[in-house]
Amino acid sequence: MIIITRPDISDAELDHIRERVESAGLHTHLSRGEHRTIIGCIGDEARLAEIPLRSLPGVESVVPVLKPYKRASREFSVDRTVVAIGDRARIGGNAITVIAGPCSVENREMLLETAMAVRGAGATILRGGAFKPRSSPYSFQGLGREALRLLAEVRHASGLPVVTEVLDTRDVDLVAEHADMLQVGARNMQNFALLAELGRVQRPILLKRGLSATITELLMAHGNTDVVLCERGIRTFERATRNTLDVSAIPVLKRETHLPVIVDPSHAGGDAELVAPLAFAGIAAGADGLIIEVHPEPESALSDGDQSLAPPAFVALMARLGAFAAAAGRTMAAPVRDAELAGTAA
Ligand code: PEP
Ligand code: MN
Repeated sequence: MIIITRPDISDAELDHIRERVESAGLHTHLSRGEHRTIIGCIGDEARLAEIPLRSLPGVESVVPVLKPYKRASREFSVDRTVVAIGDRARIGGNAITVIAGPCSVENREMLLETAMAVRGAGATILRGGAFKPRSSPYSFQGLGREALRLLAEVRHASGLPVVTEVLDTRDVDLVAEHADMLQVGARNMQNFALLAELGRVQRPILLKRGLSATITELLMAHGNTDVVLCERGIRTFERATRNTLDVSAIPVLKRETHLPVIVDPSHAGGDAELVAPLAFAGIAAGADGLIIEVHPEPESALSDGDQSLAPPAFVALMARLGAFAAAAGRTMAAPVRDAELAGTAA
């Protein structure tokens, strides 16, 4: 932390600032310029968090030296984190991982059909909402417990690990029993009670960026290392798309954090036709993966049908993704094969 003092600071004020900083266990170093005196604070910056430094007489501004999002920062870990989901899926590293599946789990048949279709196309993780955070109380809220049971069943049948959203602190253990990865949705990114509960269970987290959250807020929203960050579009003045995909957030996040970053082109654009171009943009910008909504019959979907791809469109998208991955110096994660499936189903 560096404290920049006012030009008219008195010696007594300067001494007082130094005493407050030193009482927190840090050392101070004065640098007297022609017009200003700067106080360098040496030691654990976190200890200064409880001192309202800017309110001390003689202080003009305070400049932190370290990033506030300690554990997520590249200062904390120079090596990039690779997050394991289930036994064989990984997010991070050179390969691009695709998560796909319905917005909501509607019934067993549609979930199984979607899982088999996305697996065949090369997705290695299945998504499906059990508890849905709907913007309207009159919309379909998800099948809840029944959907969790179906996800666990289809996970077994397809060999794909599953990710599903947890909305409530009371459901954390239940969801963790059924899913390989727990999603914190955009509307819950700063639900700190929920995030604290998630720190207790041994499951990786998919943390989606809040609708109006800054990149720093996204990085501050957790203290875990087993986290995948997701850019899913933010709220802007633009009405032509559901949200605005913040493409710049991807390289900024990759620069600031060791955590993997994925893109959700489905919720960003809110339109099936935009999914492929936004997915390509995400890969070009350096994303480690994608999460895409797929429904066997989008026009009859109970949630987010407008932005869901039918299986043939998803197959076509996956077929084109490899070229974008190669152009970005990446590979696509190896698809799950039937031989491996036989191993798990036994
Ligand atoms: C979802 O993944 O279906 C979802 C509700 O996402 P978000 O929290 O990003 O809106
Ligand atoms: Mn959705």
